[in-house]
Amino acid sequence: MKFSSKTLGIIKRSLKSPKTYHAQWMLTRKCNYRCRGCNVWNDQSLNELSTEQVKSGLDILEKIGVLEIVFSGGNPLLREDIKELLDYASERFITTIYDNGSTAVKKIEALQNVDFIAISLDTLDKEKNDYLKGISGAWKNAMDSIEILKKEGINIGVSPTISQINLYDIVDFTKYFIEREVPVWYCLYWYDYPFKNGMFSIGKESNEYRIKDRKALVKVFDDLLELKKTSEYVYITNKTLEALRELALTGERKWECKALNSFLIVDHLGRVAGCHSRESVASIFDLPKLWKTPEFDRLRDEYSHCTKCSYLCYIFYSVHSGLSGTIDIIRDQWKNAKVFLADESKNKSAFS
Ligand code: SF4
Ligand code: SF4
Repeated sequence: MKFSSKTLGIIKRSLKSPKTYHAQWMLTRKCNYRCRGCNVWNDQSLNELSTEQVKSGLDILEKIGVLEIVFSGGNPLLREDIKELLDYASERFITTIYDNGSTAVKKIEALQNVDFIAISLDTLDKEKNDYLKGISGAWKNAMDSIEILKKEGINIGVSPTISQINLYDIVDFTKYFIEREVPVWYCLYWYDYPFKNGMFSIGKESNEYRIKDRKALVKVFDDLLELKKTSEYVYITNKTLEALRELALTGERKWECKALNSFLIVDHLGRVAGCHSRESVASIFDLPKLWKTPEFDRLRDEYSHCTKCSYLCYIFYSVHSGLSGTIDIIRDQWKNAKVFLADESKNKSAFS
């Protein structure tokens, strides 16, 4: 197999700086949905970085060793310059973008080079999904998007947020998409702990969403572990599922939080934090000079003792930290990694 220059760059970075591999960039606060478990739409802003500023920020993330970037928001596809940003990011990182199902099909051109697009959809129950998203037609938008983008050959996945409301739907939901060869990866409903000066808020506290049936949650994780034995379309690692299962069963965390260590967050204004609930610790443009300071090490240590949230993406990159964590992910998702490498070697300029 030949590797593209992007893949080679990623391999080199992972060996050179075996630390912060993952960045999530909330590119915009704009959103056209009204999800009930989310605070973002209630606090929208038109202020955001320019195209050139985002590109400079991406260069900086590449220099500090980031391998994978996830664009979210708000809805990042609402940015006018999204094609330019995705093309730029996709040359350097494994790049994923989220859409709520409303916009991706209108911007297929922008998605040609992206590695994955995740469409948010919470359940196969149309009325329930529209209720959760706060928008009539959200379910149809998402289902149509999945079908159209898949036909277009774009690497599409579906991403439900597991909460008490759809807890009993998740396994059938996963089976439905496995049958259609659409990968599923998961978010877990959580609400933001009110840290002083937290960067911004995503999860809204909601009794309706809060998972009360812990036994059923454990069963969901067991069933997903079982489904993974025969399907490569469940995009969550065994190690993460086992850690989540333990958390649901006993309340114990088998990991330390790796905020500002294995992962970091950038917001629409270019502010950087370990996670969105914590305070901003730098502008992205100052990151190179702060990255290796004792103050940042002190923050990493402080965050490593924190247990205030259970956002699944943060758990995932805490469970799989550093080079060994990345190797674990590749091993666990080997069939998908092979597809990714094959796509890269087929589509992009390649070196032997
Ligand atoms: S969850 Fe996403 S799509 Fe829904 S309102 Fe929040 S930012 Fe928008
Ligand atoms: S556990 Fe980690 S990701 Fe969650 S709030 Fe604390 S520092 Fe942030």
